[in-house]
Amino acid sequence: MMSERILVIEDEQKIADFLRRGLTYEGYHVDVRYDGEAGLKAARDNPPELVILDVMLPGLDGWEVCKRLRAGGNVSILMLTARDAVADRVKGLDAGADDYLTKPFAFEELLARVRALLRRNRVTEETIFRFADLTLNVTTREVMRGSRKIELTTKEFDLLHFFLRHPRQVLTREMIYDRIWGYDFGGESNILEVYIRYLRTKLETDNAPRLIQTVRGVGYALREE
Ligand code: CA
Repeated sequence: MMSERILVIEDEQKIADFLRRGLTYEGYHVDVRYDGEAGLKAARDNPPELVILDVMLPGLDGWEVCKRLRAGGNVSILMLTARDAVADRVKGLDAGADDYLTKPFAFEELLARVRALLRRNRVTEETIFRFADLTLNVTTREVMRGSRKIELTTKEFDLLHFFLRHPRQVLTREMIYDRIWGYDFGGESNILEVYIRYLRTKLETDNAPRLIQTVRGVGYALREE
């Protein structure tokens, strides 16, 4: 399958790197430009399926870039805004953005928007993930272990979804924090361990075998014992 091309226009290095890393890992082809002019040029030279566009850019701002992108074709545009202001949202939609996301955000939130926008152009999409006797349906948000339904909170669901997209791979703690808690989640914390414990408790009732394994000193992996 040919990977979909995403153009990121964002001048903040930390966020640009975060987006490139995460989206590349999810199998997208990612181009990054750090200002509006360069972004518009990249979109002309090598048209992407989706543009992730920051509002606050040096030179041409995101609104202007959005209008020009819109004038040039029907690419999907996801805008990143700094504030959760209704005025910004209206302005963004007026400028022709398809959706917007307020900073700071966790990678999974962004990924959900990206998938939704790309889905419009796609015939089929994987919505049901399976591993061993575990099933997760992205559309209905139902999780089953065998014939037993499992109730998960949003964060638990996102975490399990991430594991199911990358079965048998070791996911480092850093990678998981990036995805589920976002790039601004700093410092030492044991919140991941707490969530892994919640998930295991819910997944392992009736002595069901463990599926989320600890990889000591590194992170976790979804695999059978
Ligand atoms: Ca910016």
